[in-house]
Amino acid sequence: MNKSGYGIIGLALGICAVLTGTVALAVVSVLQGFIYLIVALVSGILITFVFCSKCPITDTCVHIIPGLLARAWPRRSGPYSRFDLVAVAILFAIIILPPQIALFTLPGTFGFFWICLSTAAILANRFLCPGCKNRFCPMKKGK
Ligand code: SF4
Repeated sequence: MNKSGYGIIGLALGICAVLTGTVALAVVSVLQGFIYLIVALVSGILITFVFCSKCPITDTCVHIIPGLLARAWPRRSGPYSRFDLVAVAILFAIIILPPQIALFTLPGTFGFFWICLSTAAILANRFLCPGCKNRFCPMKKGK
């Protein structure tokens, strides 16, 4: 499989995790589920502004959608500042943390959520990070 295949699978797994969190929260309260979905979507879009808009390879982004969104933002020049990296970490935390209690109480969903995210992270680490041309990325491996 080429890198785009792994990139698309990784993005799909991330979307599956968010939708699982949405369902778990919606079982508690439909409004909570809806708010989480919107907040996760906005956080994901903001990640493309903070992180992807500095990426030198948006034209060939293996995840496709982040690259498209990044090209719509004003171009920012690298490398990433400490503020960029802290902001991205906070945005990921905003996506990952809110549904945890609801996931824990809805059978099967907690494990599924973390299997999706872990698989996406392992695929990225194993197949996408090595040789990635985003020279500014702190997780970059190799040349
Ligand atoms: S390759 Fe670049 S544009 Fe695509 S997700 Fe990674 S940082 Fe964002």
